[in-house]
Amino acid sequence: MSTTEAVSRKAQHDMNKLHKRLRRLVGTAIADFNMIEEGDRVMVCLSGGKDSYALLDILRSLQAHAQTRFELIAVNLDQKQPGFPEHVLPEYLSAIGVPFRIVEQDTYSVVKRLIPEGKTTCSLCSRLRRGALYRVAGELGATKIALGHHRDDILETLFLNLFYGGKLKTMPPKLVSDDGRNIVIRPLAYCKEKDLAAYAEMENFPIIPCNLCGSQKNLQRQVVGEMLQQWDRKFPGRLETMFTALQNIQPSHLLDPALYDFKRLKAGNEPFPDGDKAFDSETFEPDVEELLHSTRD
Ligand code: SF4
Repeated sequence: MSTTEAVSRKAQHDMNKLHKRLRRLVGTAIADFNMIEEGDRVMVCLSGGKDSYALLDILRSLQAHAQTRFELIAVNLDQKQPGFPEHVLPEYLSAIGVPFRIVEQDTYSVVKRLIPEGKTTCSLCSRLRRGALYRVAGELGATKIALGHHRDDILETLFLNLFYGGKLKTMPPKLVSDDGRNIVIRPLAYCKEKDLAAYAEMENFPIIPCNLCGSQKNLQRQVVGEMLQQWDRKFPGRLETMFTALQNIQPSHLLDPALYDFKRLKAGNEPFPDGDKAFDSETFEPDVEELLHSTRD
């Protein structure tokens, strides 16, 4: 085998592995949160960015093999940003044979008119986009709206809420829309952004740049994103641990009386599953834990 053949085989092998991993993670998220059910008509929001292309591609692949039957329809909102290459998405979607709708709505001019020069325009822009997408979902009879947010978006949002919002919350994998009429799902919730970026590159998706509007990404989000990436480089596994924590919440060990009835808490004679090691500080080093266990036995 020539060196070129060996390199291309290795590239193919890596691509298959990545595709399988992403498919498995999306399949698991769908099952864990019951995101897609028999007969669903799933509207996939396609911005032209790497994440939404990957989302559509993986959902198509699951659709081809899943026992649950569901439909996919791709929707792109053409927000009339200057230089938006209108032909790219229709050409791509026609080539892969996915039904689609392109919705033209000039949110760009609205945002430019209402937001003073130099201010971040993303929140108003996203709000207008969301409204348009919900309306289209109704018109198309979609039962689910799939968005391309991934694990790193979820962690970023968690820290944004923690640092600036005074709330312990993030983007949920499944939610009911503000108007109560749509179910929004995030099937990429378990996928890492770097895997999606690598996948988009391997698949050669025709990416449309996201900064056509000329707006900077929200500065706070940028800072939090960089902080997370630094942690990922410096402390491998930290992002995974934080993400696990989001799936392992103990209201009795937080401070929200609306989630846990602290007022009526009483001591009894039975062991108490929500109990604590009282005044001990938490330790996370396995050898110390083991030592404690061995002295107890
Ligand atoms: S970067 Fe531009 S298009 Fe994207 S959300 Fe912000 S304002 Fe809207």
